[in-house]
Amino acid sequence: SRPRVLVLFGGQSGEHGISCATAAGVLAAIDRDRYDVVPVGIARSGEWVLMPDDPQRYRLRGEHAYEVVADGPCVSIAPGGRVKVNDPADGSVSDLGRIDVAFPLLHGPFGEDGTIQGLLELAGVPYVGCGVLASAAGMDKHVTNALLTQAGLPAGDWELITTRDWMGDREAVCERIARLGSPVFVKPCRAGSSLGIARVSDPADLVPAIEAARAHDPRVVVEAELHGLEVECAVLGGGADAAPRCSSLGLIAVSDAAEFYDYETKYVDHDAVALTIPAPLPPRLAARARELAGQAFEALGCEGLARVDFFVDVDAELVTINEINTMPGFTPYSMYPALWDAEGVSYTDLVSELIELALTRPVGLR
Ligand code: ATP
Ligand code: MG
Ligand code: MG
Ligand code: MG
Repeated sequence: SRPRVLVLFGGQSGEHGISCATAAGVLAAIDRDRYDVVPVGIARSGEWVLMPDDPQRYRLRGEHAYEVVADGPCVSIAPGGRVKVNDPADGSVSDLGRIDVAFPLLHGPFGEDGTIQGLLELAGVPYVGCGVLASAAGMDKHVTNALLTQAGLPAGDWELITTRDWMGDREAVCERIARLGSPVFVKPCRAGSSLGIARVSDPADLVPAIEAARAHDPRVVVEAELHGLEVECAVLGGGADAAPRCSSLGLIAVSDAAEFYDYETKYVDHDAVALTIPAPLPPRLAARARELAGQAFEALGCEGLARVDFFVDVDAELVTINEINTMPGFTPYSMYPALWDAEGVSYTDLVSELIELALTRPVGLR
């Protein structure tokens, strides 16, 4: 019989709507001859809701993203992967049977950060993508930079600002930041889609930028500006005994109107960015970035998939890792699937490959 795939989307992070758009893509493309699908939405309030298997519903419509609301039958997972459905309309509880694997199409905190992965471990359900530790490490830009540096891989220069730092000696904080030069990038430690990120070149803007980042996460990183071309590499596979595969690189070219690859440019103003695959880089630098992508994947202990983001300074021949995303943008138009498509792996085949990888991996105590 066909494996039953729990497709999880929505979630409690600022990337809820993007996740729904991703679900639209995956539900439309998943190979129905191979898999049965149980779509479950996670409302912003945290409830799990049994959702109609209707990809069109979850599409992004201009700026308007779908929103999961907790007004339907609620779902829970019992140990062993049994799915229970509780219908508030009549108070009935039904058993949907076992699911074989989960595909968490979730971004940001409570989706990409190891928490949902931990829940699935406890329930004994195999899942697509990175495990608890790699997810948590990849979500946190301070921990990512620290692990990369520890592994001898080139991360940029950064400072971590905790709540205690910020509420304490502000002058000391500003001194640490001054060391990074100008401009700097101020970021919430744990977020994505550029939410809460600002490029600061005027010192007067620093405090508001840090406060804005703190609205997303009380931990904040401030980074030195990286120069050059912004490129991304898609990594697939990996695990106990196989080296991960690294795609060719994709270039992100943002129009002058946008200061950097911000939220608007990513999801709203599609004309402000051009993606080019493969990125026009000198072969030696492209090879270096691909090699580093695999090394970064392994340094964090990633499994299944990740997208590694770089800056490549062609003149200085410098490749620097900006960050790693353990559940990268995954709509059919996103960079990660586009990079594999360019390698001859269609979106449908990519979804199948990720599910098959998940089905072969052990969960629970190991
Ligand atoms: P994603 O959607 O890729 O997960 P994110 O929210 O995790 O995004 P980053 O990728 O770290 O955030 O930063 C968002 C964008 O800001 C980058 O794509 C890049 O354009 C710009 N940027 C971030 N950090 C730097 C830096 N240190 N130097 C130059 N540009 C930067
Ligand atoms: Mg990111
Ligand atoms: Mg992200
Ligand atoms: Mg990024």
